[in-house]
Amino acid sequence: MSKLKTIIQIISNKDYFYTFLFFDMAEIYKGVKFNYKNIGKTIIEHSLLYELKYWCAVFNHKNLAPPYPGGSSGNLSFRIKSNENNFIITTSHTALRDNMSDADFTEVTNYRINQNLITGKGEKIPSSESIMHFLIYKSRKEINAIFHGHSSEILKYTEQLNVPITKKELSYGTVEFAKDALNLLHKSDFIILKNHGFVSLGKTMQDAGKQTDFFLNKCKPIK
Ligand SMILES: [Zn+2]
Repeated sequence: MSKLKTIIQIISNKDYFYTFLFFDMAEIYKGVKFNYKNIGKTIIEHSLLYELKYWCAVFNHKNLAPPYPGGSSGNLSFRIKSNENNFIITTSHTALRDNMSDADFTEVTNYRINQNLITGKGEKIPSSESIMHFLIYKSRKEINAIFHGHSSEILKYTEQLNVPITKKELSYGTVEFAKDALNLLHKSDFIILKNHGFVSLGKTMQDAGKQTDFFLNKCKPIK
């Protein structure tokens, strides 16, 4: 729960007031919550980076990563090599858009849970959800692409999509948030994070992107 929510919950004992004001209100983005060690300020190069840029542009066009001042709230990645956990991911405080530059991506090379430490290479700090991406690649070895986005449409039609949904709203960018998502991602490659967004996993970027499209297209009133 965000600080703002907590504060207002304390000052208001009236349940109806609380519900009215804070229904569906997401936590305000405040940056990454992990420690970060940069092991090389190099520009990322990879033969599949163009494809990740393509899907970032699609997410922008379909409003799957709504903007906030200085960035947008979605993060997309792909695994670099099978049987390794390294991946390339969009950087923190970066707007998903057409013609993204190579500097908008960072390679994450490791995560140490006891130090809450992400290690990576690139010009900028990787996405705030890098812990979640790392834990998914570590435990789902056949998965090579992870797309996380925010969509008011998908949250609105959650019930008719018939996909797993996390039980409670958790603070983004934390190990707790990542583990909660991972629990459901053992059962399904597409899940909804309560009051937050969705995660789409694929063997390829095309799988993760098309799966997102499939569920987005189902977000219509049933006649
Ligand atoms: Zn998110």
